[in-house]
Amino acid sequence: MALLTKAPRGTQDILTKDSYKWKFIETVALETSALFGFKEIRTPTFEHTELFCRSVGDTTDVVQKEMYTFTDKGDRSITLKPEGTAGAVRAALENGLLNDALPLKVSYLTSCFRYEKPQAGRLREFHQFGVEMLGSQSPAADAEVIGLANEIFKVLQLKNLTLEINSIGCPECRAKYHTALKEYFEIKKSELCETCLGRLQTNPMRILDCKSAVCSAIAKEAPIVLDYICEECSEHFDGVKKRLDLMGVEYTVNPRIVRGLDYYTKTVFEFISNEIGAQGTVCGGGRYDGLVEHLGGQKTPGLGFAMGLERLLLLMANQGTELPKPRDCELYIASIGEQASLKASELTAKLRSEGFFIECDTMGRSVKAQMKYADKIGAKMSMVLGDSEIESGKANIKDMESGEIKQIDLDGDLMDVLYETGLERATKELEQKMGDMDLSDLLN
Ligand code: ATP
Ligand code: MG
Repeated sequence: MALLTKAPRGTQDILTKDSYKWKFIETVALETSALFGFKEIRTPTFEHTELFCRSVGDTTDVVQKEMYTFTDKGDRSITLKPEGTAGAVRAALENGLLNDALPLKVSYLTSCFRYEKPQAGRLREFHQFGVEMLGSQSPAADAEVIGLANEIFKVLQLKNLTLEINSIGCPECRAKYHTALKEYFEIKKSELCETCLGRLQTNPMRILDCKSAVCSAIAKEAPIVLDYICEECSEHFDGVKKRLDLMGVEYTVNPRIVRGLDYYTKTVFEFISNEIGAQGTVCGGGRYDGLVEHLGGQKTPGLGFAMGLERLLLLMANQGTELPKPRDCELYIASIGEQASLKASELTAKLRSEGFFIECDTMGRSVKAQMKYADKIGAKMSMVLGDSEIESGKANIKDMESGEIKQIDLDGDLMDVLYETGLERATKELEQKMGDMDLSDLLN
């Protein structure tokens, strides 16, 4: 029975007290991206398992340990998407999007599924906002994509996020680096975990991303990729840095970032917070110039990022970031008796069609209980209808905060009163905001 009232481990409900926060960051992310020319794409929740093995990479933690894979009734191997890039690139190829004007710029919001050990900021179903930009190999594209993530964080007013960037080179320079890594890890072979022993043969760079304490301690002293990248990759990286400097995007170069997915080439980056515990990477991304070709398309460079919305929200909660509150009920219409209840329904419908947020009794409760409810939901104003109000066509409308009471005509000036008080409230809120605002905020 317990299973019936318990969500699976590593999943969580987003309740109404929080859903407006999600809506807000999703809207900010989508709209800010739209200003950079990114348009939203929606792809299926599951794909053929092969797609992720191919793109994310057979030797990654994601593919080796974390995927939700099952065989469907048609005997196909299906996987719930662990990340957003593979599906977006698959959709671009399948629908010929790369034949249109390049670069192709898409954004997405998606659930992701990874069988991991749940903890703060690490879930089995989590949510990402991401973007992909396909078709450009110029450092200008890298700067644009990194600049976009930076801009989203700025609009959300997040503080103390650090941007770390690195270049992991192209397959040519990577080969030399792999050799150096193999030599280094070969000597420490006896200390590596079992998974990393396998990686030593197949993909030694993955060892650098191992979460085991011993392996990561050994990895700290490993050769760094920046010492092995070729001239072209090095110039590309310089180009990215130069543009970020000009754009005023602050960053540090961290030669130890390699990222957890296999498809990355050249630029990789992370936005990191030290205020949300061990899972501090809020956003990760990079370039994947080989991916499209690897999935069967024409050679097309690309890059993108994905940010974890749970981690973003954790950070915003920790920093006490102010979010716009959802709208409150503007008027609660209480009623006594059948006639008044009918009138309340009629008025409610009419006012809602004008765009007001109105509620009336749907429980058949006493006036006292109705008013208690109006108070609980934070209604701005209330009004009680009974036989005498229906007869006279007049009622008293009460400001729930100040207690001030005004008499109004039900069919005449009720609407005007709602408009006026709404306007007054908005003006007051704006004045308060302006009062709180530091002049330097305006200049920034
Ligand atoms: P980590 O090193 O924390 O496992 P990752 O490298 O696996 O992260 P990516 O695949 O790059 O993460 O995903 C991009 C972003 O998605 C991460 O930076 C993080 O914000 C978020 N994310 C990844 N895995 C999870 C998870 N299990 N739960 C919540 N958020 C996650
Ligand atoms: Mg991970």
